[in-house]
Amino acid sequence: MNLDQFPRRRYTEGRTPIEFLPNFSRAVGGPEIYVKRDDLLGLTGGGNKTRKLEFLVGDALAKGADTLITCGAVQSNHCRLTLAAAVKEGLKCRLILAEATPGAYRPDAGGNVFLYHLLGVERITVVPWGTDLLAALAAAEAEAAAEGRRPYVIPLGGSNPIGALGYVACGQEIAAQCAEGGLEFDNIVVAGGSAGTQGGLLLGLRSEGCGVPVTGISVLNPREVQQKLVYEMAEKTAGHIGAAVPVKREEIAVYDDYLGPGYTLPTAAMVEAVKLLASTEGILLDPSYTGKAMAGLIDLARKGVFPAGGRVLFIHTGGWPALFAHQELFLDK
Ligand SMILES: *Cc1c(COP(=O)(O)O)cnc(C)c1O
Repeated sequence: MNLDQFPRRRYTEGRTPIEFLPNFSRAVGGPEIYVKRDDLLGLTGGGNKTRKLEFLVGDALAKGADTLITCGAVQSNHCRLTLAAAVKEGLKCRLILAEATPGAYRPDAGGNVFLYHLLGVERITVVPWGTDLLAALAAAEAEAAAEGRRPYVIPLGGSNPIGALGYVACGQEIAAQCAEGGLEFDNIVVAGGSAGTQGGLLLGLRSEGCGVPVTGISVLNPREVQQKLVYEMAEKTAGHIGAAVPVKREEIAVYDDYLGPGYTLPTAAMVEAVKLLASTEGILLDPSYTGKAMAGLIDLARKGVFPAGGRVLFIHTGGWPALFAHQELFLDK
């Protein structure tokens, strides 16, 4: 699968490392656990959206856009990184933030909200949770166009066949790192939200002939919904590339057991996972995505689904700046 046909900006020099986590693996007491450090990607604070934005912003610039418009939750890594890409490219950026409860968005909050202001967001529109975000994005696009702007709309999580190309590239990168380093994994674990990451990753791995299972830990949707989203994302992205889909519907593995009370809402297992990785390896996870995904990996290792003697690769999709909006969760009472 050749991605050279697509416009792309580069926000990271070279590849992200795959690191073995000896202390963490010992503490969990199961397989050897490795991490793909996509938290070290470029743009402000890094994370998986940086890879998607390389292709999304490449497309926006090719189309002559001057304003990026996107949406997310109040503490959105995707919004932070879209804004960071806009800053780097000399574009304006407008954000639509959906708040789970009235008043949840406070302009003086920490974490990503602080960074929206520090990086110079042009406009923030706060809407209630459950708002039709596609309609809200279309309205913001029409509004910007009426002002004489050339807007470019990026969907929730940057998950469309253009954004997902970033994770096709990541899948290819992992396949190359495994081949060169003589590394073999029994499983790859990744957090799942808008599904572009898992869908693109599967496509990239399979296109390189790498058949390693990919397990998604859903932090947003019930299992069946997420499986369908991931498959459709892989299928549409393959269509966009102009290749046959080397991904089978039956191989889309998703767990929704670690979602807890809902999207962005904390769980005790998430807190344990964040603390354990920080205190054994000095690596920061986030409360909404990677903390829950790592809680899933730990539980599946303890249950023997990922047995001792095996090797698991965790995709660190970033998000750690959101920790600084939720410090109270991690302080011992
Ligand atoms: C957005 C995000 C994800 C989920 O990626 P999707 O492609 O939306 O499934 C995972 N981890 C972090 C830190 C994120 O910000």
